[in-house]
Formats: sequence, C-alpha cells, structure tokens
Amino acid sequence: MIEVRQRKDMWTFAVLFTALEVAFLMIVQVWFYPPEMRSYILAREPLLTLMISMPLCLYLGGQMHENYLRKQELKSLTQRDRLTQAATRDFFYERLEEEPDAFGVSLMVDIDFFKKVNDTHGHMVGDAVIKAVAEVLRANCREEDIVCRFGGEEFVIFLHKVSPEQGLDIAERMRRSVEASPVRTEAATVAVTVSIGGSLKQVSEDIDASIGSADEALYRAKETGRNRAVMEWMTPATA
Ligand code: GH3
Ligand code: MG
Ligand code: MG
Repeated sequence: MIEVRQRKDMWTFAVLFTALEVAFLMIVQVWFYPPEMRSYILAREPLLTLMISMPLCLYLGGQMHENYLRKQELKSLTQRDRLTQAATRDFFYERLEEEPDAFGVSLMVDIDFFKKVNDTHGHMVGDAVIKAVAEVLRANCREEDIVCRFGGEEFVIFLHKVSPEQGLDIAERMRRSVEASPVRTEAATVAVTVSIGGSLKQVSEDIDASIGSADEALYRAKETGRNRAVMEWMTPATA
C-alpha cells in the first residue's frame, strides 16, 4: 500500500505515476498502431496524457495524504493518552501481548494524596500535575520501556530486560525526580510525591500477574509511609 506521508510527496507521487502512465500508454499504442501512425502518436499522446493525468494524480495524491494524516490521528487516539501522551492501557497490553517472551521489571506508580491536590487547587491544576509526573517518569525511561497511564493518577511502567537491582534503582530515581520537581502552573506551584511498587516479569509470565504483584508492593509502599519504592522481593526489613 502506497502511503503519501508528507505534502511534498504528493508531487513525487503525481510525477512518478504520470510518467508510468505515459510510458505504459506509449508502449501499448505503438504496439497496436501501424508504423506510419507512430510519429503522430509519439508527438501528441504524451502531452495529452500529461495534461489530463497530472492534475488527477495530484488530486489523488492529496487525498492519500489526507487519509494518511487521518490514520495517524486515529492511531494516536487509540495508542496515546490525550492528557499525558503516555501509552493507553489497551496499547500497553497490545505491546506486551505481542512479546510474550518479554522479561524485566513492572512498576506501578501512584501519586500520593492526589485527591488533596484536586480539592485544594482544582482539577485543572490536578491535570497539570498528572501531565508533569508523566513527563518525569518518561524522562527516566529508555526508548524500549513503556510508560502507560493505567488509570486516573496511576501509571504502569514496563522496563524491558532489567535486573531486579536495576529496576529498584530506576524506581528510586523516578521517585526522587518527582519529589525534586515541583509543578509550576499559573494558579499554583504544587509539590507531589509518588509511591512505587515493583515486581519481576519472567519470560512467558502473564503481564497481569506481574502487575498484580506490583500493585501489592505499591500497597506496602503506601502503608509504610508513601514517597517510597517497594519491590515485591523486598522483605519488610529492607522495604
Ligand atoms: P493515595 O496517596 O492513597 O494514593 O491518595 P490519593 O488521594 O492519591 O488516592 P485516591 O485514589 O483516593 O485519589 C485519586 C484521585 O484522582 C481521585 C480522582 O478524583 C482523581 N483523578 C482521577 N483521574 C483524574 C484526572 O484525570 N484528572 C484529575 N485532575 N484528577 C483525577
Ligand atoms: Mg490511585
Ligand atoms: Mg494516589
């Protein structure tokens, strides 16, 4: 399927397609017409075809470009959360279902006392905080990791091919970065913290099982004081 990704590609499409059309018509007609008519055909046919075909191909190219843009928009609507541009829950599962052998660390991140932010400063500031936290989380990930907005003020992150120690380091880095990045809006400057729960995902293990364990670890992080990262494998003494 030909895709016209940029506006300038409309011209490339129109010129190439018209050239192909002219060449094809010339070959067919020279083949069928008697030799004495060939010079007549060769003199008029290319110009005529060009005049009719070029505008038509330009129009077609324009439509194909519009279609491409619409397709991209639709894709982005289903794959990216509108507020944060993080992956949607559906897209997150889709990606991991495509890779059942993926292994690494799953993190569940929840903003602490977020209801208070909404109650004190209003939903618009709340939205700005969710967006800013998503940016901080993304800034601490690599290209191959997936940051997903799992629900309101909760994120799930999958860190591909990292060891438990690396997973804990990354979670701690995220936690400290959020703590050190107050969110400045026109209405207020808001400092928030996050609690993080983490679990390992082994090859072929169901992602839901891993997220469930990360959720349990998150619960422990909340219970033991918030603004902390707790991994499923940590004992109460090390958490
Ligand atoms: P905890 O530390 O235990 O997580 O406390 P919390 O207040 O963060 O927890 P809770 O789950 O009670 O509050 C989450 C709030 O997030 C409730 C809901 O109104 C708000 N929320 C959910 N989605 C959005 C959103 O898209 N925008 C805004 N502004 N608020 C949201
Ligand atoms: Mg929550
Ligand atoms: Mg919360």
